[in-house]
Amino acid sequence: MTRLVVDEDRCTGLIAMHTPGSTLEAFGAKATVLATGGYGRIYQRSTNAIINRGYGISLAYHAGVPLQDMEFVQFHPTTLLGSNILMTEGARGEGGYLYNRLHERFMASYAHDMMELAPRDIVARSIQTEIDEGRGFDGGYVHLDITHLGEKMINERLGGIRQISIDFAGIDPVKEPIPVQPGQHYSMGGVPCDSNGATPLEGLFAAGECACVSVHGANRLGGNSLLETIVFGKRAGEHAADYVKGTIMPADGAHSDALVREKQAVYDLMGDEGESFAVVRDELRSVMQQEVGVFRHRAGLQRAVLTIRELRGRGRNVRVKSSATSFNFELLNAIELKGMLELGQVIAEGALAREESRGAHYRTDFLERDDEHWLSHTLAFQTPDGPRFEFKDVNISRFQPKRREY
Ligand SMILES: Cc1cc2nc3c(=O)[nH]c(=O)nc-3n(C[C@H](O)[C@H](O)[C@H](O)COP(=O)(O)OP(=O)(O)OC[C@H]3O[C@@H](n4cnc5c(N)ncnc54)[C@H](O)[C@@H]3O)c2cc1C
Repeated sequence: MTRLVVDEDRCTGLIAMHTPGSTLEAFGAKATVLATGGYGRIYQRSTNAIINRGYGISLAYHAGVPLQDMEFVQFHPTTLLGSNILMTEGARGEGGYLYNRLHERFMASYAHDMMELAPRDIVARSIQTEIDEGRGFDGGYVHLDITHLGEKMINERLGGIRQISIDFAGIDPVKEPIPVQPGQHYSMGGVPCDSNGATPLEGLFAAGECACVSVHGANRLGGNSLLETIVFGKRAGEHAADYVKGTIMPADGAHSDALVREKQAVYDLMGDEGESFAVVRDELRSVMQQEVGVFRHRAGLQRAVLTIRELRGRGRNVRVKSSATSFNFELLNAIELKGMLELGQVIAEGALAREESRGAHYRTDFLERDDEHWLSHTLAFQTPDGPRFEFKDVNISRFQPKRREY
């Protein structure tokens, strides 16, 4: 999908690229359900699949839907150095230890009772602090040690972790500790929708990680993605199916026009002179990782906002040199880059605006959660000058927010 088609304030289908032929096609639809996943790959280090660049979310943004709570990005504490493949919590759950360069079980300084089993955000911040303060290993990592569990238990309980470490890092965790570092893992923000998957744009539904029903608030609990995929995915599908019963098929006009515009946009991307998508994309990922990552503060976020604005300018000069007429991945990447840059800007500016620490959003200059001013959802609206923010009340019913204390 390269574009959502909107006609008279209603989503009437989409334009998609047939990847093998690199040709564009229009699809009219009474209802459209977005299920395009999260935006982890906007970061340099992510456990997500390569496709999770948030492009579907950016298309909803383009179609006039505000994006919700995009600054809430979860970082997993233990991802494998190099590939950033997830090293499951199970490794610590089974008794794995975290060590710094000085061979200290450093979690004792951060969560004395829970140690390695403290929540994700606390362990991620602890590891990042060790690295930032020079007690990590060169290259920015710490050790996840499961050697003391023994080969039998590792094979029985953590066989996948062992195999991944051997295949992707050349390290056998039976004999040596695993080099790990925090990496982006889950996107709490996304396309706002109600519990039926309906978004603010008529005819458009959303489900899964691209959606923001907001069951996860500012920090998803491990294992709870099932809520957005299975529970709310089912509800979104059922309600979209009900919705189409009372809806007529949209006329072709809007699709034909959108298809012509999209073909022109793709044609305009082709050329030998211009920036490479990869250079701009990697600079975006790097600044997101450094300034909009586990720790955030005003000066760093301002730097990120400025850099991304500059990258958006350069992004307009990206050209696709490959004229391949099938599987043109340079073209797909260049198309997606625009969306990645826009989402990066929304995340960075949203994080800059939110002057508090809440869930996975941790500001070193505003350490406390501030319910008086910030118990609210962020909504980012697209404008030609960048996102415009509004804030909406959080719907609190049964459970009152409490301070997290261990
Ligand atoms: C390593 C890892 C481990 C995890 N472990 C757990 C766990 O144990 N428990 C748990 O609850 N959650 C877990 N999660 C989170 C959970 O897996 C995800 O939240 C969930 O898979 C998201 O599902 P989804 O269908 O919304 O998106 P995805 O599974 O990301 O699927 C999105 C789909 O959309 C397609 N797509 C994207 N863009 C476009 C486009 N423009 N046009 C057309 N198609 C497009 C993609 O190709 C893909 O097929 C884990 C995540 C990771 C990365």
